[in-house]
Amino acid sequence: MDRSSSTERFQPMTSVMSGQGVEVTPDLYCYTIQIVNVVFYGFAGEGNDWVLIDAGMPKSAEKIKEEAEKRFGKNNPPKAIILTHAHFDHIGGLIDLLEIWDVPVYAHELELPYITGQKNYPEPDTTVEGGMVAKLSFMFPHEGIDIGSKAHELSIDHTVPFMPDWKWIHTPGHSEGHISLFRNEDHAMIVGDAFVTVKQDELYKVFTQEKEIGGPPRYLTPDWETAEQSVEILTALRPEIAITGHGVPVRGQWLHENLDRLASDFQSIAVPDHGKYVDDSK
Ligand SMILES: [Zn+2]
Ligand SMILES: [Zn+2]
Repeated sequence: MDRSSSTERFQPMTSVMSGQGVEVTPDLYCYTIQIVNVVFYGFAGEGNDWVLIDAGMPKSAEKIKEEAEKRFGKNNPPKAIILTHAHFDHIGGLIDLLEIWDVPVYAHELELPYITGQKNYPEPDTTVEGGMVAKLSFMFPHEGIDIGSKAHELSIDHTVPFMPDWKWIHTPGHSEGHISLFRNEDHAMIVGDAFVTVKQDELYKVFTQEKEIGGPPRYLTPDWETAEQSVEILTALRPEIAITGHGVPVRGQWLHENLDRLASDFQSIAVPDHGKYVDDSK
């Protein structure tokens, strides 16, 4: 497997939530690494089956493994790792984890080229309107990684491996093969970066994790029209619980009100006034 040198690059960001976890439902545990969340699906208990959703920031494998051992016991690897998408902050620990755990990794077919060494993401847009984080985003790696034969395509029937009550939903825009996961039973949703609950543009808000709905992180989003459609698709499902890739998990009234607002006012809340990918599409 090829470890891109880019994942070794300095990552300047963290948050007050880093290293903390929250049990959102008895079988959904959201764990924060610096600025990004990973999700453990499965009921806590020694030897229980579980699935990891996303793989955190670079160099986070050890932390993810320790947290998994606390919840599911030692020598109990996940059944699979599912990726919402393959940006550096969601696959950072992946190669190291696959050295510890021999497990399959599932992603949308359009996202596979980024984890099998065939494609790099466009460079982050450091010119985008959106403050300090955008300006720092030149440090973010955009090169793909290569996990070889461990990469698998999600089934076209929208079932999710080892998560029987869940469906995956294609929610592109932020990346081509971005997916969200949805469970009809309790309307729980894992949305990756389709929308977030912290304002990514402001460094202090990222640090304090102040709760605020937002569209996908601006500096890494190349297709705003599609991103808006994806938010509409998710809103139409009427989620009761949402675990986002960035920011705290949200539910109920707050989620309904803010997601409706984001969907109806996407242009002003989410889309930057100027930037490489905005100006290109005009
Ligand atoms: Zn992303
Ligand atoms: Zn992200």
